[in-house]
Amino acid sequence: MPDLATPPRSDEVEVSLFGPGFGECILVHLGSGNWLLVDSCFDQRRREQPALAYLQRIGHDPASAVRLVVATHWHDDHIRGLAKVVRTCAAADFYCSAALRSTEVLTVIGTQAAYTQSSGAREFHDVLELLDKRSAGPGSSSPGWTVAERLLFKRRLIDERTESTVLSLSPSDASVTRAIQAIGRLLPQPGDSPRHLPAPSPNDTAVVLWVSIGSTAILLGADLEKTANPHTGWTCVVNDHESRRPGERAEVFKVAHHGSSNAHDDRVWDGMLMAPPFALLTPFVRGNVQLPSADDCARINSATPRAYISAPPTVRSAVRRSGVVERMMAEVTKERHELDGGCGQIRLRKANALERGQNWSVDLFAGAGPLAAVARAL
Ligand SMILES: [Zn+2]
Repeated sequence: MPDLATPPRSDEVEVSLFGPGFGECILVHLGSGNWLLVDSCFDQRRREQPALAYLQRIGHDPASAVRLVVATHWHDDHIRGLAKVVRTCAAADFYCSAALRSTEVLTVIGTQAAYTQSSGAREFHDVLELLDKRSAGPGSSSPGWTVAERLLFKRRLIDERTESTVLSLSPSDASVTRAIQAIGRLLPQPGDSPRHLPAPSPNDTAVVLWVSIGSTAILLGADLEKTANPHTGWTCVVNDHESRRPGERAEVFKVAHHGSSNAHDDRVWDGMLMAPPFALLTPFVRGNVQLPSADDCARINSATPRAYISAPPTVRSAVRRSGVVERMMAEVTKERHELDGGCGQIRLRKANALERGQNWSVDLFAGAGPLAAVARAL
């Protein structure tokens, strides 16, 4: 049984992907106890944010250890608990997609936040307020806005030879323009009743990250999709990568959009990843959407034998109740998830960031497992 509570050594790279079944959150150890935290989810059973709880368990105080928090996009499965993350990680700079940087977006979010307690708008609104209250502290007092090829972090944390950098690869200028045009159409008009913030495909402006620590690179694919427009989505990311970092390849890939085929691009696998890469993903199950599908699992498993998922992409059937109770619950709930086993975690560690290659150890906790085993059970 792997030991969950041992922290990585100061020169050890770690990528941990957390996913309780709905939602995802990523921690990357940048060296010497400094962490990048991407997105947020919530462990309903333990009533905790799993990445913050994990850092505490390994003896790293999130208030000082987390240097950078990035919100990839404003879908519920990526932002639950984000306000708590920002509140706790007082020394961290905060970044989110430049697609949110407009009066129109902030107006829509402010309007939505006034009427709802649980949506992404509420969470974003709270994050902005929290940042605004920060003054002389070490963390940023305003969001940083990511665009393609923006350097978010650069330090020598391990030794003089080993640089740790975090670069955003998206959204492209064209994606930002299209998103702002789309959200402008949602601006509340006089007499409108409050609406939940519909998603003008925030996946198209999701923040993809390229993390490099010494010679080791990690690609975090967020929920970015492949689009027909060559100036948006993955095509744009791959083109930029090929022109700016030719030949550089990541050893670990957080698979985009829960393994969905609409986020798959052969050029990412062929041109940005070392073969065979570690491929990590979380499931997304809501309504009649189930990701990854059996076909998605087959595609990813054929691309690499090193694919892992944080939890099975299935909703456990709820406990049987009497017909009356079942009908009542159906009337008052949109969907139900049985609470079980805590938050799945896939943890990869590599002893030497300067060594190019794939000498990683893999530890799986709670519901996490190899994607091949999950695919057999679908
Ligand atoms: Zn998602």
